[in-house]
Amino acid sequence: MLLKSLTTIIGLAAVALPAGAAEDHYADILKRAFISSSSVSQETLDSFRISETAEPAAVKELCAKLGVKFKKFGWEADPCGKLPWRATLRTVKNNPLLFITFGNGGDNTLILSAVHPDELTPVPMGFRLARHLSEHPELISSDQQVIIAPLVNPDGFFVENPTRTNARGVDTNRNFFTLDWYEKSLTWWKTLKLKKLSHFPGHFPNSEVETVFQVRMIDEFQPDKILSVHAPLGFIDYDGPGDQKPTTLSQAERQAKALAGAISQKSKNYRVVDYSFYPGSLGNFAGNERHIPTITLELATTDAKKVDSYWDQFLPGLLQAISYPFKKTIEKTNNTQKFYSDFTDKPRPKTDKS
Ligand SMILES: [Zn+2]
Repeated sequence: MLLKSLTTIIGLAAVALPAGAAEDHYADILKRAFISSSSVSQETLDSFRISETAEPAAVKELCAKLGVKFKKFGWEADPCGKLPWRATLRTVKNNPLLFITFGNGGDNTLILSAVHPDELTPVPMGFRLARHLSEHPELISSDQQVIIAPLVNPDGFFVENPTRTNARGVDTNRNFFTLDWYEKSLTWWKTLKLKKLSHFPGHFPNSEVETVFQVRMIDEFQPDKILSVHAPLGFIDYDGPGDQKPTTLSQAERQAKALAGAISQKSKNYRVVDYSFYPGSLGNFAGNERHIPTITLELATTDAKKVDSYWDQFLPGLLQAISYPFKKTIEKTNNTQKFYSDFTDKPRPKTDKS
């Protein structure tokens, strides 16, 4: 019976998809029936941790692997350099989730790249920026901190042909636990994305360690702004609390749009758009729900050979994202109170009532 209905489904689908594509599609679906249950939960999170003693060797091993893979794409052979990379979590394929911090100030910028490693051009960007900041410490002022997670989805990168999804076939930029996840996520995937496997949001939100890793970066460092590098849509997109709502822009959103404009100006006037966000996306989770201005820099192509020219084009914009005088501008406009009241998660200064 099961076999019969499966045959019927495959038969029907064959009408819509070319014969070979239909076979590949269903072979891929059938493979998923045997994926081991390695989702992240409170019970299993410990098994994804890297102990302090194991951390240096794990980072070293990953960096060596990265050198080999980078060379294959014609990029630098030592992307990590001699930098003090950190990694406290690992993926299901045992790849450490790298991050690094620069500066000790309170004005924090979180920069993410390679969330979707099939988009090749962003992959070297986080590493290059980290090495650049290490060589030019004067770029970070005493009131700033920069956190870079350059390879959010290593499992998707370390396969023959890099994939958008992680090793468990989940798009980690659709897996954040946004308030609309249960209501919309799988429905949108089925209708808008026609069940495209590369955009699968997961069976549950937060089921992927790469998602949990990004959430932890946000929780731990409380960034004032986030920039994530993708490709190939060719624009800068801003996600903030006013997105998709016909309301007047909040002060936070106005400032974030100004930030997107400033980055664009430093990047040869790259196009800025207000693209909608998806259930379970970073822009929705951080920008819409947490009111952290979140910028997506979409490079124009995924052509590995274009990395050098993109680096030259966008380095000034990346540095602008870090140094953009967010708080100072707000103070000048005399709207500090309203601005901070937008940041509901922001810890408020303690007041001594005694
Ligand atoms: Zn992407």
